[in-house]
Amino acid sequence: IFHHSELFASIPPTCLPIVYHPNYNITFMGLEKLHPFDSGKWGKVIHFLKEEQFVSDENLVEAREASDEDLLVVHTKRYLNRLKVGIYCCFFCSTLKPPVFFHQLLVYFMPSLRCLEALPESGSVSSGGGFHHCSSDKGGGFCAYADITLAIRFLFDRVEGVSTATIIDLDAHQGNGHERDFLDDRRVFIMDVYNHNIYPGDGFAKRAIKRKVELEWGTEDSEYLQKVELHCEGALNELRPDVIVYNAGTDILDGDPLGGLSISPQGIIRRDELVFRAARRRGIPILMVTSGGYQKKTARIIADSILNLHLQGLIGADGSGSGPSAE
Ligand SMILES: [Zn+2]
Repeated sequence: IFHHSELFASIPPTCLPIVYHPNYNITFMGLEKLHPFDSGKWGKVIHFLKEEQFVSDENLVEAREASDEDLLVVHTKRYLNRLKVGIYCCFFCSTLKPPVFFHQLLVYFMPSLRCLEALPESGSVSSGGGFHHCSSDKGGGFCAYADITLAIRFLFDRVEGVSTATIIDLDAHQGNGHERDFLDDRRVFIMDVYNHNIYPGDGFAKRAIKRKVELEWGTEDSEYLQKVELHCEGALNELRPDVIVYNAGTDILDGDPLGGLSISPQGIIRRDELVFRAARRRGIPILMVTSGGYQKKTARIIADSILNLHLQGLIGADGSGSGPSAE
């Protein structure tokens, strides 16, 4: 009854559950140079991971492009048509962007679903994705496709045994896109930890949050990590989901011009480990998407965090045979 989709091709067992495509990186006629942020962070993350000889072109999972039919699982035809003809004002730099700019960003998120399907009790990472301000009929804040919603809908429809999901959204901004999409959906439990003084301040969407943690300007590591751990454990004890989508925005980093929080690089690495551990302890597959955070040093921190997750045995099926050393 479901349309044919390329997004569920199987993953060779030699691959790490890390998804990437070179097209992630936004280079758009030099316009990216006008951005006050690092638009090539995804490529840099992978570059660092290659330098550390953790990944290679052979063991990365290559992202696939979502087709219109895939996108229609969430979005309306009208919305997609508008995307195709319109130009958009970039949230970050206020320059106008043609639709292809956004299209590149999303379509490669979806294959990470393949990781979730192929590796029960696994942790997987999509080096892009996490466009949490977009809902089915409305883009916003740099997000044109509702990739988190799409991922969860796909899983519900197509993967046996997946009927509940928890979104753990730890980007500095409120994730109002998926919140609007799952407002009245009891299958989805949303936990959101964000700076409540910044964009988007979407009061309507807040009603969808089952664990809401609002942070003040300049929140630091100790308070932040304590809250993340407490509420992560609490959320997963309240509902044990079949999958977790973890929106791991790094715009919580100290000095981020948009996030307004003061978390250290070590704090981010520790945070990601806390979340993955909570999932692993319960045997719940978790998919991390990298979402916002575009300072020059961000890519290095994300790479270090992925390496740490690997070192701790938290990426892959059981952490023992999933690395390149398995051969
Ligand atoms: Zn953000």
